[in-house]
Amino acid sequence: MNTLIENLDYVVTDTGVLENRSIVIEGARITSIRPAGSGAGAGSSGVSDVSRTISGTGRAALAGLKNAHTHAAMTLLRGYGDDMRLQPWLENLIWPAEGKLTPEDVYWGTRLAAIEMIRSGTTFAHDMYFYPAEVVRAFRDSGMRAAVGLALFDFGDPENRRGQQKNVESFLREYGAAPPGAGDRVFLTMAPHSVYTCSPELLVWAAEVAEAQGLVYHTHMNETQQEVDQCLSAHGVRPFVHLDSIGVLERVGSRTVAAHTIWLDEAELDLVSGHGVTVVHNPASNMKLSSGCFPWKELHERGARMLLAPDGVASNNSLDMFDEMKLAALLQKHHYGDPTLLPAEETLAVATGARSTVFGSHGVGGALAEGGPADLVLVDVTAPRMTPSHNLVSNLVYAADSSVVDTVICDGELLMEHGSVAEEETVVAEASRCAAELVRRARSG
Ligand SMILES: [Zn+2]
Repeated sequence: MNTLIENLDYVVTDTGVLENRSIVIEGARITSIRPAGSGAGAGSSGVSDVSRTISGTGRAALAGLKNAHTHAAMTLLRGYGDDMRLQPWLENLIWPAEGKLTPEDVYWGTRLAAIEMIRSGTTFAHDMYFYPAEVVRAFRDSGMRAAVGLALFDFGDPENRRGQQKNVESFLREYGAAPPGAGDRVFLTMAPHSVYTCSPELLVWAAEVAEAQGLVYHTHMNETQQEVDQCLSAHGVRPFVHLDSIGVLERVGSRTVAAHTIWLDEAELDLVSGHGVTVVHNPASNMKLSSGCFPWKELHERGARMLLAPDGVASNNSLDMFDEMKLAALLQKHHYGDPTLLPAEETLAVATGARSTVFGSHGVGGALAEGGPADLVLVDVTAPRMTPSHNLVSNLVYAADSSVVDTVICDGELLMEHGSVAEEETVVAEASRCAAELVRRARSG
């Protein structure tokens, strides 16, 4: 199906903001970004079968936002425990509840997350959670692009490790790198949870599988000072040096996506940039859990590949990438006492995926461009909070929220049209039911 989005007020591209443009989408690709009014029917455009026309009047088009680190089904635990220290929060609330999760919970929790993400202009999510088959099914049903992590953590127990390895092997055998029926939009990643929950053997095994099968390696790194101290006492080195010393960075550094990366020393900053690791800034989660501040300046100066994400809802408590953009920019300025840090243009580039190509071979694009995937968002530039438009990029980062998102297209398919997303009522009802039953089970022990 070919789509014409005509008479857009603005199109945000990697070379700047273009005014008065139309966009032609052929199948799943953007084939033309042209001056408005130059036509797209047979003849002038060379596109003979425009089957859908969307008015862009009063709208700006930008690339779909990319959520690079999340635990989607944690939507069921939104607001279940807040304002607590990490250990009691995990031990008394989150882990007991997660111990009672069913596959059905994960399916509806992920569907709920997907609707929230679509509504806030996100077209891709990089997930890590339980019951990957249900996560695959949920994202497939949502229409979003998604990387579904095969989560691993053995806490150093060899028997546990062998069990998890067997599960992952059989899952990969059954599904392959791209699950059958999921089209190109849903794919798998290896997701060893972290250095502090995975033995070196498991971290290395996951890297070998990721390397052999061409999968992204998704993990949490250097989130807290305590985790760094723990690694120093267990292995004698800091976490990134540990990954390097066991050969993980050599094997899969450039396909590694590391969430948080707050507590990095100079040698680790150099390892990250030298091996092409993609680091993920999670400002809301980091502030809510008082984890610390992502060293954007040091990473940016070294040319590190970078993405942005909300983390799981239990530590955020939403999945809105517009919130995340504003928080990312403000956190840097506040923490370092320098308002020039992480400017709006750079923040938007990171959020659209333009500062890392780690998912590129799986079809995930960056900035909006001719020839790129048709993953885009139309925002209402006539909304009060977007007026006036002296600087559209500034408005997108500092003034916008999900309420300005009007239409979302992923892989050429319309996922949200003028504020409405298919099956929303059903998903909200089912997720509410699952959440209530889950909490009842968790509390009854
Ligand atoms: Zn996380």
